[in-house]
Amino acid sequence: MSATPLPQGRLEQQLEDGKPLYTEGEAVAEAHRCLFCHDAPCITACPTGIDIPRFIRKIGTGNLRGSAQTILSANLLGYSCARVCPVEVLCAGACVYNAWERTPIAIGRLQRYATETLFAQGEAGTLLPRAAANGKRIACVGAGPASLAAAGYLALEGCEATVFDRNPLPGGLNTTGVAPYKMPAEGSLREFEFLASLGVRFEGGVEVGRDVPAAKLLADHDAVFLGPGLGGDTTLAIPGAEGAGVQGATAWIERMKLDPTASLAGVTRAIVVGGGNTAIDAARELAQLGVAEVSLLYRRTQADMSGYAHELEAARAEGVRFVERAVPAAFVRENSVLKALRLSDGREFPCELVVLAIGQASLAALAQAFPDVATDAKGRIVVDAETGATGNAKVWAGGDATGGELVVTGVQDGKRAARAIAKALGIPVRDDAPMLAGHGTVRT
Ligand SMILES: Cc1cc2nc3c(=O)[nH]c(=O)nc-3n(C[C@H](O)[C@H](O)[C@H](O)COP(=O)(O)OP(=O)(O)OC[C@H]3O[C@@H](n4cnc5c(N)ncnc54)[C@H](O)[C@@H]3O)c2cc1C
Ligand code: SF4
Repeated sequence: MSATPLPQGRLEQQLEDGKPLYTEGEAVAEAHRCLFCHDAPCITACPTGIDIPRFIRKIGTGNLRGSAQTILSANLLGYSCARVCPVEVLCAGACVYNAWERTPIAIGRLQRYATETLFAQGEAGTLLPRAAANGKRIACVGAGPASLAAAGYLALEGCEATVFDRNPLPGGLNTTGVAPYKMPAEGSLREFEFLASLGVRFEGGVEVGRDVPAAKLLADHDAVFLGPGLGGDTTLAIPGAEGAGVQGATAWIERMKLDPTASLAGVTRAIVVGGGNTAIDAARELAQLGVAEVSLLYRRTQADMSGYAHELEAARAEGVRFVERAVPAAFVRENSVLKALRLSDGREFPCELVVLAIGQASLAALAQAFPDVATDAKGRIVVDAETGATGNAKVWAGGDATGGELVVTGVQDGKRAARAIAKALGIPVRDDAPMLAGHGTVRT
């Protein structure tokens, strides 16, 4: 579906769409199940406050353009959110149908239907009202969901908004990390084309702090938004950790999604270490790619896991073996070839591949390159909760770098900062400005 070419032969292309695009008939039938609740709890549960019954009603009446407009004004990344949001614990989890033990409305699939159909018709670029150019220049660091949202909302108000990313491709983890059965990289790139059509500029392959110093970014722009996400995968300091066969989860997932030379040849037994959603994703991906034995090893019990229970159940259904109280002690190698993972209690798990999903470093050093931008003990950028403002009057921040964990919360952070930046720069914000859509609306 994307005009942006990616190389063929990537592993992610072998994975099937977990929730395929609805047909028109399916979408209309599902839309008609919605009760269009007054004070709808699904709206409150959406971090960006999309008017869910409103967009669903428009699908039911055949007004797809209006439906997409309702979604995308409140959430410029409403397409990727439709595909990657954990709706089970957000909007669909709050749907009134749950109280009657009936299947909640498939909000994510309906949202995907409206946005993807509009994208395919090539009309999305004219959906949202745009203000005349105002001469203000905004730099966003990182081209993930948080920065893209900030840049998109400010571009719509007439700013020149440029997003810089060290990666050659835009989209952040939507492109490099999200499980392909939710959304392949093409989906994220297609969404970026929509944002580009709103005026967002992209400078790929530019690492801020290395290729462009923080001081130059500040001097050349009226405001800077920091959305760099998190850094590299945490490693395990145990014997045998160095060498082939042991990989960090985000590094492995990125190769699986984007690198046509990535291969699972010779891997019949794989182990994923970790208890979060990234660990479960990696295990499900390996199982779906045909690895015969996939084990998910977690140091504590299921009750202590940060990963979603519904994702763990899905992993189990796909054949992933879940092992509790498993503390790695050493990688067993023969002639440097990985043979097994040994646990502290002596158990050994033979394997050809170990994927470590035990956390990611912070990018505190980048934040600290900007004067007066503070980080906390965990390396997260300290921001004002209402606005995303930092200690530097020209710098705002949001997304995972400030403690976020989801695409949708990153988007809301970007929208929140866009409102605050517009106010700080004295940009007149129109009454129908998309950045004002969604709950939490404040005329900042
Ligand atoms: C494997 C994985 C799967 C996930 N799956 C889901 C999911 O299904 N649903 C969900 O809601 N969330 C998911 N998440 C979480 C979600 O992806 C993040 O919360 C979200 O992407 C955060 O957005 P962000 O804009 O803050 O950062 P990111 O998406 O991480 O983007 C940050 C960007 O900044 C760039 N950058 C960093 N430093 C610099 C620099 N110095 N100069 C220039 N660019 C820089 C990076 O290259 C990156 O592209 C997942 C996370 C992971 C790791
Ligand atoms: S709570 Fe469920 S039924 Fe009510 S408006 Fe939201 S999606 Fe429709």
